[in-house]
Amino acid sequence: MIVDGRRLWIDSHIHVRGWSEDGQGPRDFSVDDIMRVMDADAARLVWITSYSFPGIRAINADPAKGVPWANEGQLGLVQEAPAGRIFGSIAVHPAALNESLVAIELYAGEHGFVQVGEVLGYSMGFELDSQAMVKIARKAGEFGVPVQCHVSTAGQQDGEQMRQTISLARMAPEAQIIAAHAIGGRNSYTHITAAQVYFEMGGRNLWLEIRDFNTREWVRAAVERLGAERLIAGTDWIARGQPPFPPYGILFPHESADENPYPCTVASLEGFLRESGCSEQDISRIAAENSIALFGLEGRVPAAL
Ligand SMILES: [Zn+2]
Repeated sequence: MIVDGRRLWIDSHIHVRGWSEDGQGPRDFSVDDIMRVMDADAARLVWITSYSFPGIRAINADPAKGVPWANEGQLGLVQEAPAGRIFGSIAVHPAALNESLVAIELYAGEHGFVQVGEVLGYSMGFELDSQAMVKIARKAGEFGVPVQCHVSTAGQQDGEQMRQTISLARMAPEAQIIAAHAIGGRNSYTHITAAQVYFEMGGRNLWLEIRDFNTREWVRAAVERLGAERLIAGTDWIARGQPPFPPYGILFPHESADENPYPCTVASLEGFLRESGCSEQDISRIAAENSIALFGLEGRVPAAL
């Protein structure tokens, strides 16, 4: 999709703090610092943001307090951003089930947040397919927002998180489930195979994020075996430290453009898709169309040609 001559590129996996760097005070940078990163690219960027460190520590230490705290921080950020550019993602934790269900009602129902996540079972020490998680996923399904589940790219053995993610999708068929950064790390083939089997068995409610677009052989396998309509862009960009923040398109977990193996631009990522054998239609789907449908962004992002 091209809007005013610019590629529309929606990234569902962006971490931006809604509080100060130490987690104690109000945010110590402005939305302008974020918009500067977004507007530096030639593409028309739209971001779906979720909490970042030290939110993980705060939520884990006291989920019942940490969940509302993290969501309030995100709301401030989203409300200050220009319309149609930044959308919120809802923090949840199964150990604070009630607070999580209330958060989904409030933030999806009243504040227009478009996703639940990132659900970090691995680093927060819970299973993604517990009964509490099924309740969270069903509530998200009720409000039409997908649940973004962290699946380890390499840090955990053999795709166990993908098993839990697909198990959650199977147990809550009315929910839409996203396997975060499923494509890019060394577990990519395992993730693709697991998703393929789920689809072949009739599963319909699963989408996979591409994090590392330069891993062309994995992107190619994902497109060929799953179809471009199952893939979305989620690079795991993180606003680290104080501004100026790293450019968009940087490869996780790099922090500076100097160490990135290619220019940090959407044009690079788009080029990798092309080199992976994607058609223009595939690129348009992965960059924007799938996300517009999945996150209900029709009419909320600039109209596309
Ligand atoms: Zn993440």
